[in-house]
Amino acid sequence: MTDLSRRKVMIGTATAAFAAAAASAHAASFGNPDRPPEGAINARNRQGLTDPGPRDDMLARQFPSAQDAPATDVNGMPQFWSSFNNAHKRIQNGGWAREVTQEDFAISKDISGVNMRLSAGGIREMHWHQQAEWAIMLDGKCRITTLDEEGRSSVQDVKAGDLWYFPPGLPHSLQGAGTTGAEFLIAFDSGMASEFNTLLVTDWLAHTPPEVLAANFGVPVESLKDIPVDNLWIFQGKEPGPLAAAQRASASKKGPPALPVTFSLAGSTPVRKTRSGYVQIADSRNFKISQNVAAALVTVVPGGLRELHWHPNADEWQYYIKGKGRMTVFDTGPKAMTADFNAGDIGYVKKGLGHYVQNVGNTDLIMVEVFKADHFAEVALSDWLTHTPPEMVMQTLNISAETLAQFPRDRPDIVPE
Ligand code: MN
Ligand code: MN
Repeated sequence: MTDLSRRKVMIGTATAAFAAAAASAHAASFGNPDRPPEGAINARNRQGLTDPGPRDDMLARQFPSAQDAPATDVNGMPQFWSSFNNAHKRIQNGGWAREVTQEDFAISKDISGVNMRLSAGGIREMHWHQQAEWAIMLDGKCRITTLDEEGRSSVQDVKAGDLWYFPPGLPHSLQGAGTTGAEFLIAFDSGMASEFNTLLVTDWLAHTPPEVLAANFGVPVESLKDIPVDNLWIFQGKEPGPLAAAQRASASKKGPPALPVTFSLAGSTPVRKTRSGYVQIADSRNFKISQNVAAALVTVVPGGLRELHWHPNADEWQYYIKGKGRMTVFDTGPKAMTADFNAGDIGYVKKGLGHYVQNVGNTDLIMVEVFKADHFAEVALSDWLTHTPPEMVMQTLNISAETLAQFPRDRPDIVPE
C-alpha cells in the first residue's frame, strides 16, 4: 500500500466514526440509555427497521417485544421463553401429555414441566420416579392415589386450582374423573426429568421372570399369564366410582400419610391483595409435604403490574394460565430482555435476577410461579428503596424527597395499590 492510499483509508474510517458518534449523541436519555443505543427510537434510517425477508406473520405478531424491543433492552441474554403450545403431544387412548424439559429449554435447570390431559376414566399408569412431582389442576377433576414409605395410602379427588405433591420415589396413579376428565400441569424438581421416562409397574412385571412374580405374590404362574407385555403409560379405564368407596377399598391399617398430599391453592387466602390483583402461596409452611417445591399463583387485572422484584433463594419457572403478559429480565452487564407470554407459555428467571410482569391484555392475567425451594422468598425493589435511609436513595437516583415519599412502602406485589 502506498502512503497515499493508506491516507485515503484513514480518512474514510474517521468519517464513518464521526457519523456514528453524531447518531449516538442523540441517545442516552431517560428510557433510552447506553451506547451503542438499541431500539427503533435510535434508528434514524427507517429502512433499517423493515423486515423484507421471510417471515411468518401470525407467529411474529405474538412477539411484539421481540420484533420491536424497548430501547431499554440490551441484547445478550439466554432465551427464557418457551411454550407448551408447540410442544409435541404424545397421544394415546385415554389422554395425552407434552413436556418442556431442559433438553428443549436450556435455561431450565431446576424444573421440567408437563401438561397432561386425561379423559373421564383415562388413566396415567401406576408409576414412580426419582424426582418430586408437584402439580396444579387446570380443568376438570382428577383422582390421585399414592402410598408413602410407611405404607400409608391416600386416595383424593382434586379440581381446578388444587395442587398435589408426591415426594421423590413415592408411587402414584392419576385418573380423569367427573364427566369432563382432567387437565393439569406437572412440575418436576429437575430440569432433566421426563414424563416419558418413568418407572412403570407394567414394565417391571413384564421384565421379571414369571416364577419370581408368582413367588412374590404367592399365586400360581398361570394366574399372571395375561399381564401386559408392553407398558400402558396412558390408557382408557372405567370411570372411577365414589371416592369414599375407593378410600375404604385401599385403606391401610396405618392410616393416611401424616401430611396431606393435596392443597387448594386457588381456595387459599391471598398473602397480598390490592385493587390490581392478588398473590396466593403454597410452600412447606402451609402445604407441609411440599418440601422441595414452593409456588405462587398470581392474578393481575388489566393494566396491573407485578412489581419489580427478585427471588433470593431459587430460579423461577413460570406457567401462564390465562391472559397476556410482558416480562423484562435484568442481569449484570447490564443486560435486559423483554418477552411476551400467552396462555400455555413458560418463562424462566434465574435466581436473583430482577424482573416484573405486566398485564398487557384486556382480561385478568393468571400465572403460576414455581421454585425448587422449601419456601417462597422475594425482595421487592420498592420495599428496599423505602426501607433504606432516604438520603442514600435520593442521592443514588437523583430524585426528590417528594417523589420518594410516594413510593409504596408495604410491598404491594401488584400495583397500582
Ligand atoms: Mn409421576
Ligand atoms: Mn418473580
